Amino acid sequence: MGDMQDKPVGQAGASPRRRFLREVAGVAGGACLLSLGVGLYAKQASALPAVALRPPGALAEDDFLAACVRCGLCVRDCPYDTLKLAALGEAVPTGTPYFNARQIPCEMCEDIPCVAACPTGALDRSLTDIGKARMGLAVLIDHETCLNFLGLRCDVCYRVCPVIDKAITLERQHNPRSDRHAMLLPTVHSDYCTGCGKCEKSCVLPGEAAIKVLPVKLAQGSKAEHYRKGWEEKEAAGQSLIGEQIELPARGLEDKAYGDTRVLPGQGPVPATPARPGSGLDSGWKP
Ligand code: SF4
Ligand code: SF4
Ligand code: SF4
Repeated sequence: MGDMQDKPVGQAGASPRRRFLREVAGVAGGACLLSLGVGLYAKQASALPAVALRPPGALAEDDFLAACVRCGLCVRDCPYDTLKLAALGEAVPTGTPYFNARQIPCEMCEDIPCVAACPTGALDRSLTDIGKARMGLAVLIDHETCLNFLGLRCDVCYRVCPVIDKAITLERQHNPRSDRHAMLLPTVHSDYCTGCGKCEKSCVLPGEAAIKVLPVKLAQGSKAEHYRKGWEEKEAAGQSLIGEQIELPARGLEDKAYGDTRVLPGQGPVPATPARPGSGLDSGWKP
């Protein structure tokens, strides 16, 4: 009797069967919480942050995560310390290689030692020309702070690009602020940009770069395959698919060439005179 009184409340009268069920429920609850935690962590860890770029030749993210055995050999063989292995608690899946272009970009080694070192093919061995790597895609992300967009001559991102004049060009545009000078706007071309990140690293802005390399999925929209582009169709067919167009004069622009609808202030079609009240039916339609 004295023994029974010493037992914690709630356990004194429990039968062995009931105690067993309670213990099983406790273990199962703990396991559920653990797996929920692991699941949440795995979900968070598989979302690659925008600034984290995979090494050259990396398979598509899901395939890469399945193939990469987290051995770190690509990191070891990178001569520029570009690559690092994600540590526990980082937003990048733990143990996988990545780089941050603003810190250390990829130097586009001709022999691609990181790919050669990968034992599983998570970095695709068929990549033998570093110019064909697509680690990400550079985007001139901030037109308000880029010095060239302000009409100054900086061009640093353009000049450091290993694929200069192909991956990035300077496009001349009128400067509406000064009305006298040209702006030379850095413009990236996805056919050639390898995503090496040298432009982002070199951007002269003190904190964030105006040009950033993002994973291609974030940087680029899908192609509008459902649109037929007239100029491509014309080139493929060797002639216009709609034949000769009928040239109809535009009222008030008879003195202009066909299709030229530019008008100066004070020129152009005479606005229709509004119907006087009571002078007939006015449907509201205006030519
Ligand atoms: S190509 Fe060279 S610099 Fe770039 S990640 Fe691979 S080993 Fe490093
Ligand atoms: S990431 Fe920048 S530097 Fe590298 S290829 Fe593309 S535009 Fe050139
Ligand atoms: S280096 Fe930076 S500021 Fe200079 S032109 Fe390029 S993006 Fe603009």
